Amino acid sequence: MAKIIDGKVISAAVKEEVAKEVAELKAQGIIPGLAVIIVGDDPASRVYVNNKKKACEQLGMLSREYTMPAETTEEELLSLIKELNTDPEINGILCQLPLPSHLNEELVINTIIPEKDVDAFHPHNVGKIMIGNYDFLPCTPAGIMEMLKYENIDITGKECVVIGRSNIVGKPMSMLLLHKNGTVTVCHSRTKNLKEVCLRADILVAAVGRANFVTADMVKEGAVVIDVGINRLENGKLCGDVNFAEVEPKASYITPVPGGVGPMTIATLMKNTLTAAKKQNGAK
Ligand code: NDP
Repeated sequence: MAKIIDGKVISAAVKEEVAKEVAELKAQGIIPGLAVIIVGDDPASRVYVNNKKKACEQLGMLSREYTMPAETTEEELLSLIKELNTDPEINGILCQLPLPSHLNEELVINTIIPEKDVDAFHPHNVGKIMIGNYDFLPCTPAGIMEMLKYENIDITGKECVVIGRSNIVGKPMSMLLLHKNGTVTVCHSRTKNLKEVCLRADILVAAVGRANFVTADMVKEGAVVIDVGINRLENGKLCGDVNFAEVEPKASYITPVPGGVGPMTIATLMKNTLTAAKKQNGAK
């Protein structure tokens, strides 16, 4: 039987710390502000944006939402970002991905100034993460590291296998595990013998985007299993990348979906917005 790593409990602890610091900043007349831009009407994006907004309000931060129609031009979107780049009330800017296909995501990411890039997607911040000297960490991988820390799971010398190599999750996740002295293998759609590679893992992170992709025969007895996937089944229920029912009896720790990595992503975003506000105001 695995211990369930409860993202709701751990994220609440992170958010409590953030709320305390927000209150301290407020006493100095500083209110951390996050601007969230959503283009189009993707229902999953809508849910994520609402959750981010709710978290901001809960922690006493300023939250501004910009909803733009799907046919928004690149010029319009970039012009809004440039405005927010110089807006003193806004410390963090986030453009919810994916964007409609006529918009260039890379250009959008590169237009947000690194100081306000609370998603840590800008090449400047990605480079800093690579070196290990960073201001912000990408929200999902950093949230996972927080979960491992909270559960006192030591990473040093452990075989860590990350399935997925996206810029948002897989690549930065592997880098953070490496910084903590894990021996890291990154898998993707061209990986040969995926099952054998996964069976080596002491810590297995699944960020694939396919429901129930990781089955019990891919998991070593006693492994720590982190499920990043958010997949919607035909019956409307959310489901991770890991077949929880099968894998849970073999794992030592496992994250559920929902209630696992998702809440940690939002808590880290709040932390990053607070960090941005402190840096931009020269506060400690
Ligand atoms: P991407 O689609 O960008 O990346 C998926 C990765 O999985 C790719 O690297 C791909 O390989 C790899 N992959 C696909 N099929 C296979 C396969 N058969 N075998 C091995 N690897 C495979 O997704 P994201 O990284 O953005 O997201 C992954 C999941 O995490 C999604 O379900 C997403 O919704 C969820 N997510 C959850 C968050 C949270 O807060 N919990 C936050 C962000 C994402 P290749 O590169 O070769 O194509």
